[in-house]
Amino acid sequence: MRIACNIITDIMPLYCENECSEETKALVEEHVASCSKCQRTLNTMEESLKVEEVRKADSDIQVIKKITQQIRKDRFSAFLWGALLLSVATVVVCIVAYNIIGVSVAPDGRLIEAFGLIPIAWLFTFISIGLGLFCLHVAC
Ligand SMILES: [Zn+2]
Repeated sequence: MRIACNIITDIMPLYCENECSEETKALVEEHVASCSKCQRTLNTMEESLKVEEVRKADSDIQVIKKITQQIRKDRFSAFLWGALLLSVATVVVCIVAYNIIGVSVAPDGRLIEAFGLIPIAWLFTFISIGLGLFCLHVAC
């Protein structure tokens, strides 16, 4: 049975994407083997599908790369904000602890003061300022 070229051309997309039955495949292959016009159409269709698949794969890779970059950036950003909060908390704890401990004079005349907390508070103040500026202008 000879099938008209336009019917074969209509089912060619299904054949190319392997979405037809074995009987349909056999019909297309049988027709294409004896019809050079449909053979050329099939070759063109298969080539354009390959190009389309390569393009789609490339765009999928680009999307995955962008998502990965965003995740890395978000993770780094979260780390910086966490470090900034910890640093500010350290400053607050040092100042509060210094004020709670207070300054007193021992009976032997020694000054009792939690003096070590002051430079720690200043150190973490500068670290907080640095992290804050970095977060605002560079990373976040
Ligand atoms: Zn034909």
